[in-house]
Amino acid sequence: MSNITPQPGILDITLYQGGAAHVPGVANVVKLSSNENPFGPSEAAKEAFRKASYHLHRYPSSDHAALRGAIAEVHGLDPERILCGNGSDEIIAFLCQAYAGPGDEVIHTEHGFGMYRISALANGATPVEVPERERVTDVDAILAAVTPATKLVFIANPNNPTGTMVGEGEIARLADGLPDHVLLVLDGAYAEYVEGYDGGAALVEQRANIVMTRTFSKLYGLGGLRVGWGYGPAHVMNVLARVRGPFNVSSAALAAAEAAIRDTEWAEKCREGNTRWRAWLAEALGEHGVSSDTSLANFILARFADQAEAEACDDYLKSEGLIVRRVGGYNLPNCLRITVGDEASCRRVAHAVGQFM
Ligand code: PMP
Repeated sequence: MSNITPQPGILDITLYQGGAAHVPGVANVVKLSSNENPFGPSEAAKEAFRKASYHLHRYPSSDHAALRGAIAEVHGLDPERILCGNGSDEIIAFLCQAYAGPGDEVIHTEHGFGMYRISALANGATPVEVPERERVTDVDAILAAVTPATKLVFIANPNNPTGTMVGEGEIARLADGLPDHVLLVLDGAYAEYVEGYDGGAALVEQRANIVMTRTFSKLYGLGGLRVGWGYGPAHVMNVLARVRGPFNVSSAALAAAEAAIRDTEWAEKCREGNTRWRAWLAEALGEHGVSSDTSLANFILARFADQAEAEACDDYLKSEGLIVRRVGGYNLPNCLRITVGDEASCRRVAHAVGQFM
């Protein structure tokens, strides 16, 4: 017998079930369940990755100076306040490690990204779920949920899995309404898909209580390499820098991300493709009686009559080689989240949903 037990909260974490890219016995499978870029990364990023492979015996840069410099240049930010992570998942984890422990509360929204809850629990903090209004982040509900124990508030904008967004004015109202012991985290994993949106960078510059997180996994097509970054006030970034291990991002990932962010032409092509096929897919699903909110990200949250219909459609899509995401775990049992693929994938999804309905 063993008496080895994990910390309280750890066993409340649900194991990740997504990620499958195959359906046994089905050929020509397309994975549309993880919001990946169907067009892949830029050629320049692939070339940088290849070149980095000649130096795999060396540890990566520990200060990420080249990548931070490129991000700072492209976005007009202060490189000293950029921190790179092994995906933005790791920045979320650093924030919880540094700011939220036992007895502390971490606020996330009703249909918020799952890593907020996981990272809070992993550090002994208590996740607090706040209702949304019609699947949109509700600033007043968040402000009402804040207590003296609240340390962090996480908002993804656009949000995953709803695809909805709150305006800059609302975010500013939230930031200004929070007591001074609370840090607001603006997760901009899908920010690049919103034409003209800075992910909250300007708000970060104006305030001492906002951190923005970003990723190379979505528009830049580098999900497999795991690179993300955070930007915030110096007092917060100095704390996060102490939590980060020196070699947390691999050399190949650093090199590919730097090339990717400089290839603005490829990024623009991917954004345009997403905007075009997202609109097409939403309309095609609507014609088959499947509604969705206007999505600003690279996926659509398709709404069915009930859980049984959503799950039956998911099973049918799978049998047709189309892997989408059940979002029951996000309190959306009657919905399926479908990544916007390329033209061929979108046409296949629309056709299959039509057959099913
Ligand atoms: N935030 C949101 C809202 C996401 O949807 C995701 C990826 N699914 C992430 C963060 C994490 O992305 P990554 O770790 O690949 O940067």
